[in-house]
Amino acid sequence: MQQHLGLKSDRAAPAGDPVDAAAPLRRRLPRRLLDWFARNRREFPWRRDRDAYRIWVSEVMLQQTQAAAVIPYFERFLRTFPTLADLAAADEQDVLRLWEGLGYYRRARDLLRTARLLAATNGGRFPDQLAALHGLPGLGRYTRNAVLSQAFDRRLPILEANSVRVLTRLFGRTGDPRRGPEQRWLWAAAEALLPSRRAGDFNQALMELGALVCTPAAPRCEGCPLAEDCVARRLGLQTVIPARKPKPAPTLVREAAVVIRRGEQVLLLQRPPDGRWASLWEFPHGSLVEGEAPDEGAARLLHELTGLQGRLGSELITLRHSVTRFRITLVCFEAEYLAGDFHSAFYCQAVWATPAELSAYAVSSPQRRLAKVLTAAGRQGRLF
Ligand code: SF4
Repeated sequence: MQQHLGLKSDRAAPAGDPVDAAAPLRRRLPRRLLDWFARNRREFPWRRDRDAYRIWVSEVMLQQTQAAAVIPYFERFLRTFPTLADLAAADEQDVLRLWEGLGYYRRARDLLRTARLLAATNGGRFPDQLAALHGLPGLGRYTRNAVLSQAFDRRLPILEANSVRVLTRLFGRTGDPRRGPEQRWLWAAAEALLPSRRAGDFNQALMELGALVCTPAAPRCEGCPLAEDCVARRLGLQTVIPARKPKPAPTLVREAAVVIRRGEQVLLLQRPPDGRWASLWEFPHGSLVEGEAPDEGAARLLHELTGLQGRLGSELITLRHSVTRFRITLVCFEAEYLAGDFHSAFYCQAVWATPAELSAYAVSSPQRRLAKVLTAAGRQGRLF
């Protein structure tokens, strides 16, 4: 899982020159790390070749998502869109449908927007020069450098959660790596350590070491190729470096959703093109107000979100899921359409679809769980 650190502050870097700190290590560390990587690297489908498009797709998918979870998504995506030109010609809903379950859907929309821009300006090829990538949607410093170093062996550093953990411990950096000055120091140190060739392998090795050996809770220093030079290990500071920010307390949220039936069809609504779950489809749902019972809220939301008149039925399922610090309990009801035309201040458009047709629409994970209830054996009798 990659959490990227961009450079956000113009303040001066903290004391201690990163190039000087890296200089004594530059001769031996890359070789040790690359040797370790050759013996321990995991095989992933995006490591089979140096195709920039495939590496780019994998890097975007790996942001906020574990590698093992990404594999089936990556393979399905590349089967459907084997080239950048294929992706550029895709319908956004088809891309979102393939992304369903990975979350953070903005990544998918940015991937598509950038593919279309590159198809229009670069002949459908992923550029091999850094300057051509500036300003493209979703291509921050980490992603640009990761793709160019792996695909074209450009000598460009990377920083994400795993490499930050390795570097802060290696150099004994006790400052907050999320702050601008410390980030600047770490970017400079990462660059100073890079070998003149095989920068992409070096970057991957750094991340792999963080994922497999220099883990957050219990680093396995005895098997680490950097142990001899590691300041945190020498001082016994592995558990306090990198500095952690306290986790925010979870916020409990109560919501209700309504599956409105009209004959054999149910109402599905499309969210607006900006904001959370942009352009995805869903059954109308929203937060309950203080003291409101789920069935009262569902009846209110039915009319508020759709403009329709309906008769609320029984509860279908209660779903629990998390979005960042929010712990959401979603109570889902069925309802029968009675009268009215769809109009909504929030949703863009509505379709009436049979349960079997729901699989064609891109929806969020909790909404997919609700959609599956409608087609599950034993449930259909209640609704249809
Ligand atoms: S010696 Fe331990 S703390 Fe230092 S980089 Fe290796 S695993 Fe991490």
